[in-house]
Amino acid sequence: MPVDYHIHTKMCGHASGEMEEYVEAAINKGLKEIGFSDHIPMYFLPKEERDTSIAMEEEQLPVYIEKVRELQKKYSEFPIKMGIEADYVPGMEQEVLAILRSYDFDYCLGSIHFIDGWGFDQSEYISEYDKWDLYELYERYFGILAQAAASGLFDTLSHPDLIKKLGFRPEGDLTPLYKKTVKIIADSGVCIEINTAGLRVPAKELYPAAGFLKLCHAAGVNVTLGSDAHKPEQVGANFAEALTLLKDVGFTKVVTFTGRGRNYCPI
Ligand code: ZN
Ligand code: FE
Ligand code: FE
Ligand code: ZN
Repeated sequence: MPVDYHIHTKMCGHASGEMEEYVEAAINKGLKEIGFSDHIPMYFLPKEERDTSIAMEEEQLPVYIEKVRELQKKYSEFPIKMGIEADYVPGMEQEVLAILRSYDFDYCLGSIHFIDGWGFDQSEYISEYDKWDLYELYERYFGILAQAAASGLFDTLSHPDLIKKLGFRPEGDLTPLYKKTVKIIADSGVCIEINTAGLRVPAKELYPAAGFLKLCHAAGVNVTLGSDAHKPEQVGANFAEALTLLKDVGFTKVVTFTGRGRNYCPI
């Protein structure tokens, strides 16, 4: 088993278990390395509008960093990386950059969880889908993903087709949209993440779709691997399936990071 680079902690308000339990679960599953990547504080909203069940508060960020460092010391034989999952919000690049520069992260996941303030992956706001033509919604989502890639802020784009999470899929072929997006991703040099959480939600499919992943491979885009664990038992979840798809598509390695520099782990 290679590495799990997408792991949350209860500081985000919607995960459970102790950080140490995530580490123990990873060791028990035979992973070579992990990275914590909890949700960055909601820097893009005024403090009073931030939802503590979505992301850690600003004051918790140094505590998170300290806890990861403590675990790195305690488990000196087992590599634990300092990551973060950062929302990409167009127009707020400087704000997120300031946070990313404040700490020595090993890597940063770039995620899109909001479209013009709408939390499209939260089932409470599902009624908003009725207002969209789904193909246009996907175009909008992938347009923001391309902007996230081109921003140069992130090391990898997590759950690249999160827009499918709640099961809303447009009719019609997504290939042209994928191609346009993958070209920008490839030009930017950012990695994409294969994320097994898609199997646990209505989408019932790995992120990203196999068609998207194939285009990424053809364009020379590298991949990272993550479970998006919000419980210790989800660490490394469904990695056999993810690795099978990666190998079928032609990938032979996944990327790891130290101090935001790349290394490769064979699969
Ligand atoms: Zn989460
Ligand atoms: Fe996410
Ligand atoms: Fe996540
Ligand atoms: Zn996530």
